[in-house]
Formats: sequence, structure tokens, C-alpha cells
Amino acid sequence: MTTPARTRFAPSPTGYLHIGGARTAIFAWLHARHTNGQFILRIEDTDRKRYMPDALDKIIEGLRWLGLDWDEGPDVGGPHAPYTQSERLPMYQEAADWLIEHGHAYRCYCTPDELAEMREKQQANKEKIGYDRRCRWLTPEERAAKEAEGRSWVVRLAVPLEGSVTIDDLIRGPVTFNNAELQDAVLLKADGYPTYHLAVVVDDHDMEITHVIRGEEWISSAPLHVHLYHAFGWNLPVFAHTPSILKPSGKGKISKRALLTPDGSTIPVMLHEFPELGYLPEALFNFLSGIGWSLDDHTEIYDRETAIKHFDLKDINPGPARFPAEKLEWMNGVYIRMLSIDELVERLIPYLSRDLGIPEEALARDERLRIIAPAIQERLKKLTDAAPLIDFLFADEIDIGDPKLLIPRKTTPEQTANILAEIIAALAQVDVWDEATLEETLRGLAAKMGLKAGQVFSPIRQAVTGKKVAPPLFATLVAVGREKTLQRLRNALNRLEQSLQNH
Ligand code: GLU
Repeated sequence: MTTPARTRFAPSPTGYLHIGGARTAIFAWLHARHTNGQFILRIEDTDRKRYMPDALDKIIEGLRWLGLDWDEGPDVGGPHAPYTQSERLPMYQEAADWLIEHGHAYRCYCTPDELAEMREKQQANKEKIGYDRRCRWLTPEERAAKEAEGRSWVVRLAVPLEGSVTIDDLIRGPVTFNNAELQDAVLLKADGYPTYHLAVVVDDHDMEITHVIRGEEWISSAPLHVHLYHAFGWNLPVFAHTPSILKPSGKGKISKRALLTPDGSTIPVMLHEFPELGYLPEALFNFLSGIGWSLDDHTEIYDRETAIKHFDLKDINPGPARFPAEKLEWMNGVYIRMLSIDELVERLIPYLSRDLGIPEEALARDERLRIIAPAIQERLKKLTDAAPLIDFLFADEIDIGDPKLLIPRKTTPEQTANILAEIIAALAQVDVWDEATLEETLRGLAAKMGLKAGQVFSPIRQAVTGKKVAPPLFATLVAVGREKTLQRLRNALNRLEQSLQNH
């Protein structure tokens, strides 16, 4: 039996949620669920300058859309509330005071101008850039004098000057940092807000996080965090830094820019853009979980439950993983084909409503959608593919375009007009308007007239749908219905006859 883990995802509302972040959230969620533990959502909003008002709602919406749930968080509460850092300021201030009292941190009175000057000098002398610790060594008298001047201050961590610190990363193994390379990082800013370093450690400890799972860009911060844990005398959590994701080309890490796929199309990188583009959340979950982790050596399609069952942080590959753009649409299509017809219709309705301007309630009541859905399911890679494929269903009239488009290959315009007239006569006689009867009737007609099936089918397709490529013909005719089919065929015939007379 594994002990239940407490993991967290801790986004900052300084921007929207990136798919790299979403994938880290999936890993942290999977680990919590695999161990029957808890998953916590915490909002790290201490960077007031970069705060983006609408980011938080979008992040939460996106995580929920992906199918993640959390046991504790800003919107669901929990024993360690509040889960938003800006609401926890006294805790960080207290922690900073404690560190100062115990000699692990100090007030730094340097002004931005002084820091800039320090930096310039370091640059000019080709010295290492960074805070030179001048306030660390102030005497009590000098300190009192600075305070008497009314200077504002920040709190800095007094990192050990010698020795090293080793992070036992669950994914990448031990990673060692020399203390001499570390900065006396700011812990508390002049405005009383903590920096990330202080807040993350105080909160991960307070919230009893057992596994700190986050992107590898944070690994360079981990030694500072370990020093903080040591200073406070707290037990360390397990660290697991997830590998970064490379562009589809394999060259370079993904950034904030949309991804260019091998076929020249683009894929967004912000999670909230995926729903509107017709991706299924369960497909994206499967897809993202498979970047850097795999269920086994051959299974690509698996549901959440299976992923939970098999997930092990140790199986995450420490090397960077390429974003396999070529699999995304394929996988989405697989998931679309796994839907029942009722589910498919239900999922399609919001997209059809948006793209065709038809109210959702009207679509929900529309039998034609249910009839055509099985016929198009195979062809959909994204839910947005449906509207251009079946818009003809909902049109009052079809613009067949140039009447020449009605004319099949190796057929004259006059013959086509004749074929259309025969089709209309035959279909008007059909008593049961179903696929089998329509197929039998139309194939029979072609045979009787000595024509290839295509010579009969293609003018019908053009007349009824206005498209060369449309869903399978008989299902289309059933969905459109007898009356509209005949009406569209008659219109097409009229158009063709008119054009014949004009020549
Ligand atoms: N707030 C950090 C971020 O936005 C989280 C880092 C961490 O998980 O420790 O990525």
C-alpha cells in the first residue's frame, strides 16, 4: 500500500494556463488519485505587478474542463483555507520575522538605485552579478540608523555561504547545487507581499504537501527552498520536477507562441483555446498525459481511470519530450468515435449553434441531427468539423452554384436534366423514406437507365447539399427528409433547364 500523497497545483494568475502547466497539473492530480490522496489547488498571486484579472477564472475553467477536480482550493475551501496567497499575508510576515529572529534572514535596506548601481559596477568589473550582501553584515547600530532614516526594507534569506545542497528529485535523481552559487534571495518585499520562494515553502508546509510536483524551470529555486525548510526545521517534501516540452519539430522548448505543425497548421498553447476549437477534454487529457509519460510501451489510448491505476511519478522520463502534434487530431478523432450517438449530438450542439447561428434548444429538438450524426461520426477529427459538413441540413434553400456542377462526368447537360427528372419521379414514389429503400430505388434507377451509380448520385448530392463532398448520400437524404429533398431536386432541375434555354 502506498501512503496517500498530498499534491498541489499552484498557478499564478499572471497569464492564462499554458498546456505545459496543464500537463504538470495532470501529473500532480494523477499522483494524488493514484495514491488515494488529495489534490490541492492553490493560487499564487503575490506578483501584483503582473496580475491579470481574468486569468484566474480561465485557469479554473480550463482545469475543470480537462476533468481535474481538487479536494481543497479557493473555490471549494478546506482545512488550510485560504488557498489564495494574497489572503495569507500575515502568515508570511510572521514566518519572515521568525527567520530574522533566528538568524536565517535579514532586512535589506538597499534602494532600487543602490541596487542598480551595484549591478553596473559588477558589470563594469566583470564580476558576478547579484546582491553583494552588504545589508547582511550591518551592525545593530547601522541597522538602527537605517530604520531611523525611515528607509523601507525587504527581507532576504541568509543562504549558507559554503557547502552544497542536493535535491533528491524523484524524476531526475540527485541534483547538487553549490551554496556559493546561490543568491540571498528576497523573501518578503517592501509592500509586505512575500516572494514566490517564501510563500511556496510556507504554504507547502502548512498545507502538508508531501510531493512538490512542478515544471523543471523551478529546479533552480529548489536549493533556496531546501535552505528555508532547514531554517524552519521542517521536513522536506519529495520534489519532482517535470521535464519540459519541446516544439513539434523537436527543436527548442515550447513557448507562449502557437505551435507550428508539420503540415503547416497551428495548435494553440493556451489551454482555454482548446475547447472552442472542438477538442474533447478526455482526448486532450490523454494526449497531454502522454508527453513524457506512458502507460506502457504500446498503449496510446487510455481513459482517466486506467491512467490513475498505472501512474507512477518515477516513470516520467527526465529528458525533454517532444509535443507530438501529428497525434493530436488523430487522438481527438478516436475519442469522437468512442462517443455514443446521443453524446456526440450533445457535444456537437454548442458548436453547431455557434457556427450556424441556430439556438441550442432548436438543435436539441431537431431529429435530423440525430439521423445524420452516425453518418458523420467517422469523418470528424474535431467537433468543429461538423458545421461545414452538415450546414445544408438547416438551410432553407441550397445554393447549388453554377448549374454545371450538377453535371456528372461523361454526361451531357440534357442527359443530366433527364436524369434529374427521373430521380424526382422515382423518389416521389418511394413509400418508406429510409436508407435501404432509397439506395435500392436509386441503384435500380441507374440500372434501368443504363447509367453508372455515380451519374445518378452526384447530381443528387449537389442538388441537396450544394457540396461535392458531403456525408454519405442515403443518410443525408433521410436526414433532409422527403419534402425538402424533392424540393431541392426540383429547384436544381429548374436551374439547369433555364441555363440550357439561355444557350
Ligand atoms: N506559481 C508557480 C507557477 O506559476 C508554481 C511553482 C510551483 O509549483 O512551485 O508556476
